[in-house]
Amino acid sequence: MTWRVLIAEVKQETSTFNPMPTRYDEFRIYTGEAIFSAYRGTQTELSGAFDIFDEDGRIELVPTVAADCVSGGPIATPDLDRVLGEIEAAVRQQSNIDAAYLCLHGAMAGADEGDPEGRLLQNVRAILGDIPLVASIDLHCVLTDRMVEHADILVPYHTYPHTDHYETGQRAARNLLRLLDREAIPTVARIKLPMLVRGDELLTATGRFGEAIRMCQEIEASATGLAAGVIIGNAFTDVPALQSNVLVTTNGDAAAAQAAADEIARFMWNNRELFHAKLTSLDESIRLANETDGLVVFSDAADATASGASGDSNAILKGLLDADFSKRALLPIVDAPAAATAFHAGVGASINVALGGTRDSGRFEPVAVSAQVKSLHDGRFTYENGTVGNGGRTAVLIVGSMHVLVTERSVYVVGQRVFQDHGLNPTNYDLVVVKSPNGFRTWYESIASLIVAVDVPGSTSANLRSLPFENCVRPIFPLDEDVPSPF
Ligand SMILES: [Zn+2]
Repeated sequence: MTWRVLIAEVKQETSTFNPMPTRYDEFRIYTGEAIFSAYRGTQTELSGAFDIFDEDGRIELVPTVAADCVSGGPIATPDLDRVLGEIEAAVRQQSNIDAAYLCLHGAMAGADEGDPEGRLLQNVRAILGDIPLVASIDLHCVLTDRMVEHADILVPYHTYPHTDHYETGQRAARNLLRLLDREAIPTVARIKLPMLVRGDELLTATGRFGEAIRMCQEIEASATGLAAGVIIGNAFTDVPALQSNVLVTTNGDAAAAQAAADEIARFMWNNRELFHAKLTSLDESIRLANETDGLVVFSDAADATASGASGDSNAILKGLLDADFSKRALLPIVDAPAAATAFHAGVGASINVALGGTRDSGRFEPVAVSAQVKSLHDGRFTYENGTVGNGGRTAVLIVGSMHVLVTERSVYVVGQRVFQDHGLNPTNYDLVVVKSPNGFRTWYESIASLIVAVDVPGSTSANLRSLPFENCVRPIFPLDEDVPSPF
């Protein structure tokens, strides 16, 4: 017997505070069999799911569309309609589908759509009917009623920084097999928590959040457990459903699901005051960088392209210039005009160029610098997980003692490969700036003498009260005082 399992992916994480809309052509889209060559052998959910299905031997995979985009601003309405429409059209073309696995992020937002993943799940469900449907999600997913309603089982990540993409795909695939084998009847318990969380206590290996995740893993491993997670939302996706959720799915055991969800949710709520980021002023950060031997890593979480920010902040660059910082520093910035200027001038040329503020001009003003063009690149590189990155036209500029990686397009600056593939080895510097709140720790903790979370402005600032929330659940911790207990 062979079961035909439909495969689809759509992932983007939105900061609604980033004024730069995300467009269709920023998505990296694979269709049909090309999905296999792009994802097999990578450290991704799709790869993990493929391996479980292959191992099972009874599954014929039916790949449709895998659309993945660097985190960014809200997706423009026609562009979102096109991405979701292509996936739905590809689903509609298939026949005799027995089950579906959708790989989602869950914190996507359109300019006019607060719940794109819920819309997709609803539409895919309408096309495919009542067959087993499992989706994997990031724990930063903004969980909505529609998502819970139209998926049989939602399987969230269990690590932060995220290192379990592959395993999450495996968990999702195993659950789909249980449904196909009619071994499981999912029962869901969900508790909404009016809280937004940030900071080091979220690190699952060392922080308090890890204890909640281990409770989730215990219920998942129990006789009736299917999937469990704490889904904290992306704090910068300011849509009506934004808050935290505990979601526990068991096999027909409603009481166990509810008891576990209740215990985990109370743990999160009772510890809410711990989940805030400790930030260091820019002046103090630079002082620390000056007095520290070995590599210092500045986390520019406020302009984290990993969280949906614009990537064109020059706040740290300006601070280093103003302070006459003379140690070796490596900084990234998204700046298409500056990259174009460098390409026009050529390698070795000296140029006067403005850096920053080309995308989030309300927050950042361009800074004029004199620079030398060190190298030019087509911007193609490979991320640590094996997937392909594309910064577009990319220039490395020398600005005093600094090397600035200027990309035309937004890229993740979480790992080391984005630098290394452009001839820049982080270990050769005294200071490296990353555009990531915590994910970078996986790749930098072993080489850094000091990590500093710098307090600078940006559309993904961990200082949540600095951001103009308008849509999320209210009252909510920490934006409001005296938020009533959800229990
Ligand atoms: Zn995430």
